[in-house]
Amino acid sequence: MKVNENILISSLTTMRLGGPARYVIEVEQPSDVPDAYGFARQYQLPTFILGYGANTLGHDEGFNGVIIINRMRGITEIDPSTINIMGGEYWDNVVDYACKRNLTGIEAMSKIPGLAGAAPVQNIGAYGQDISDTLVSIEAYDSATDTFVTLSRDDLQFSYRKSILNTTAKNRYFVISITLSLHEGTMPRPFYTSMEKYIADHDLTDFSPQGIRNIVSTIRAEKLPDPLEKASSGSFFHNIYLNEQDAEIAAEKGYPVRHGNDGHKINAAWLIEQCGFKGKLLHGIRVSDKSALVLINESATSYNDLAKARGEITGKVYDKFGFWLEQEPVEIQ
Ligand SMILES: Cc1cc2nc3c(=O)[nH]c(=O)nc-3n(C[C@H](O)[C@H](O)[C@H](O)COP(=O)(O)OP(=O)(O)OC[C@H]3O[C@@H](n4cnc5c(N)ncnc54)[C@H](O)[C@@H]3O)c2cc1C
Repeated sequence: MKVNENILISSLTTMRLGGPARYVIEVEQPSDVPDAYGFARQYQLPTFILGYGANTLGHDEGFNGVIIINRMRGITEIDPSTINIMGGEYWDNVVDYACKRNLTGIEAMSKIPGLAGAAPVQNIGAYGQDISDTLVSIEAYDSATDTFVTLSRDDLQFSYRKSILNTTAKNRYFVISITLSLHEGTMPRPFYTSMEKYIADHDLTDFSPQGIRNIVSTIRAEKLPDPLEKASSGSFFHNIYLNEQDAEIAAEKGYPVRHGNDGHKINAAWLIEQCGFKGKLLHGIRVSDKSALVLINESATSYNDLAKARGEITGKVYDKFGFWLEQEPVEIQ
């Protein structure tokens, strides 16, 4: 394992904010993981598991602890439709691998930045597919019992952008690898509304896994910032999910409530747009003019700037609509 000292969190996260982490340990084989936790225990320091940093924010004061990063890579075919992926593998390589083998199940999640080990944490999803649809199990190191464990999909208790890994067992399990079950075929129709529109507008007919990957990649490139070019954490706020009664009240008020398999939802981007923030620059943070849900760090130099921008947005949305927007990115603390 590699132990690095005083590494700026801004260099490890796509929002590019955050002061120094006292130690950053990169684990290169499963046996490194207990050693990394042992190192933290020896110095009585807290730990934080980091992947690509696409959904994580650093604070200005940094982190007086040990950040542990999974650097184990590789994809292994267990049978023609079941694959095991080491947690340090870049997620989009996994989608590419599956599409090249004509396997369906994750193609709509093309181009989500991040590592495979982080994918189950917030149950990543896009355009109608979630990782929970295909995930069979994870291999993990349990820092509470100092043992390696296998957790099944049921154990992980997935819901919208949630699993036990970011709720009840937050920061407890270090994901070593994930196993996915895919199958030959194509995604069922109808697709997500914006995909159907794009397909109709461009007269497209290839809905194979690779065809969907091409469509999603093009739509995303038009709408979302590439983390290598623009600093951001993607969608900064969760959509608002309502129960039946609140959904009816919201619809009566004229709010656009969508009724899907995952419940009654109001798009947080719509709420932010209605408050006039779309395209605005707040304390160096740009509310994207393509999707108001995305905050881009254009010239902010501190977490404090981001916190001010976030406060203005959430405050105004609450005053106007009575909904509290919940932040999606996790904070290193
Ligand atoms: C431009 C952009 C677009 C995005 N689009 C989407 C989208 O369409 N859908 C979507 O769901 N998300 C999206 N995201 C968010 C992000 O890509 C996902 O959350 C992704 O899974 C983050 O992976 P990461 O490796 O960067 O995780 P990190 O940000 O490094 O970590 C995220 C969380 O996972 C934990 N974690 C990381 N690795 C491990 C591990 N090995 N074991 C245990 N816990 C771990 C961390 O502690 C943290 O709590 C987007 C982000 C950006 C910047």
